This record gives sequence, structure tokens and C-alpha cells, in this order.
Amino acid sequence: MKKTHEVFFHSGATESINLIFKGIIFCHLKSKNPLTIFTSDTDHSSVYNQRKDFEFFKINHHKIPIDQNGVVKWKDFTHLLKETAGDLLINFTWVNNETGVVNDIEQMAKLKEEIGERLLVHVDAVQSIGKIENFLKLPINLDYYSYSAHKFGAMKGVGFTFISHKNLNFHSIMRGGGQQFGLRSGTENTMGIYSIKLALSELFASFHPKELLEAKNILESAVEASLKNNGGYVIAKSAPRNLNTIYFIVKNSKADQLIMNFDMIGIDISSGSACSSGAVEPSRVLLNLGFSEEEAKGALRLSFSPNLTTSEAKLISEKLKSVLSRY
Ligand code: PLP
Repeated sequence: MKKTHEVFFHSGATESINLIFKGIIFCHLKSKNPLTIFTSDTDHSSVYNQRKDFEFFKINHHKIPIDQNGVVKWKDFTHLLKETAGDLLINFTWVNNETGVVNDIEQMAKLKEEIGERLLVHVDAVQSIGKIENFLKLPINLDYYSYSAHKFGAMKGVGFTFISHKNLNFHSIMRGGGQQFGLRSGTENTMGIYSIKLALSELFASFHPKELLEAKNILESAVEASLKNNGGYVIAKSAPRNLNTIYFIVKNSKADQLIMNFDMIGIDISSGSACSSGAVEPSRVLLNLGFSEEEAKGALRLSFSPNLTTSEAKLISEKLKSVLSRY
């Protein structure tokens, strides 16, 4: 089979996404060709917070049109790309880290085919390995795929990117000893890289997507049944979603209290809010999708490992019900 991409290692997707975007921006500043970058309101902060840099470097930026679940509106997006002149760079988040919503990578590949070489596509694939069935089916015409190793059980602080051969003349902003063909200078994290091999071997031996989906459905039914009287619901229920996240809203509740109640029965659950300067801030992703502050503050996210079994899911369901039915 013909090799289309090379791999390079780094400290994780935050680094690679910054390397790639800034590298492309620097090239355009030098060539003076116009560049427009497209990102989504629901992207991870490693993409979202670069908007400040686009502004700083005076690079055009457009939001990718999405619906209320964060799913790309392909017709509007195609239209927007076609009417934008010059070179184009898209961040395509395959699986959303917060909602678990999966966007259609085949559709992205078709669009790249249609628009042609002036379009570069970076796939944020961080949440794909072990979390969706087709994570190995990577369309070969997309330019970059970035991953963080700890998301599939390897060590923290290491990641890798597939870069297409066409882009190997890439302007790396990481200058130094020229390691990894000059794509990312600096001594490689050998132990971290080896841990990727170990984690992937383990995952391939134990990943059963059909059973995982069954387990997820058991948990999701338990959540929905317990929230019936509360009026709460599962976020993005109607959208394509991954196999290991259930994100839901409990009405008239504060996520931090719920987290404590779950903790007491041995379940670690995350909230849709983050603590910033001592105050609980609602999730930027939920607010951007149109949820109210009140709703976002009652959002909880349950995520589980790729080898959760149906019998484990049944046991956890009972525990979930015991907490949620109190609300
Ligand atoms: N992109 C997505 C979708 C993520 O979930 C994360 C991390 O959670 C990142 C990028 C950044 O990865 P890291 O923190 O490993 O650099």
C-alpha cells in the first residue's frame, strides 16, 4: 500500500495544533497569499483560544456553521468555503471532547476533494481512538491528524500527528536540532512514545464497539428513566455520538452537589462547568450551543473506558438511579 502520510511526535495535541496553525500562518505572512481559517464554536480550547492569534496576525477567521448539537451544517459550510477567496484552513474536530458528538469525516473528505488543493484540513482526532468504531478509517486526502496519547491509556505529555507528504515542506515554528525531519525539533520522549505502542496493543485486543454501545445504551436508559420527573435530558441525543460519553442536564440542580453525591457511591463524574478564579463558570461549549447558564451549571458528563461490559453497566445503572431519582 502506498504511504501517504508521515508521523511526528510531540507533547500532545495542544502543541501540534499550535505548531500547525502558526506554521501555516507564518508561511502566509511570508508569501502574502490571503488565508482564511475556519474553526467551530465547540472546538477544544487549543483551537478556540487561537482566535486571539488570528486577530493578532490579521488572518481572516470564519466560524464553521453548526446546528444546536454542534453538527456541521454541510450545505452552508460548502457555500461559505466556495465563496471565500484565497487559501483556506479548517480545523475539523472529529469527536467533540465535551458532548461526544461525532462529525462526518467522509463528508469532510468529499468537501476537500471538491474544493481542491487551496484547502488544508487539520483533523482534531484526539477523541477518536477507542471512542468511535471507525477510528482507524482515516480518509487519505485530509492533511493532518493530531492525537494525544493519554486519551487512550498511554502516558501523559506525549502525542503524535500524521502529516501528508504534500505538506512536508511545512514551516515548523519549533526550531532547534532538526529532529523528526525538522517538523518538530527537540529530543523525543522515547518512553512516552513506547507507551503509545503498549496502549494501542492493549486497546486493539480488548475493543468491542458493539458491546460498548450496548453498555452505553444501558447507562443512558437508566439516566433518562431517572430524570423523567425532573425534566432533565441527554444533550445532543439526536446527533451521532461516540461510544463512551453521556452528557446530561439535571434541572434545578448544581453540578457540584451532584458530583459529591456520586463520589460517595464510588462514581467519578465531571461537570459541564469549570472552576475559574474560585467561581464556577458554565461551559463555553454549552453556552455557544445556546444553553442557558442555569442549564449549563446542571450539566454532568459520564465517560467510561473502551472495555466497559454490559454487566458492569447494569451495576452502575443501579447506582446512577439511586442518586438521580432524588432530583
Ligand atoms: N483536542 C481535543 C478534542 C481534546 O479533547 C484535547 C484534550 O482534552 C486536546 C485537543 C488537547 O490535548 P492535550 O491537552 O493533550 O494537549
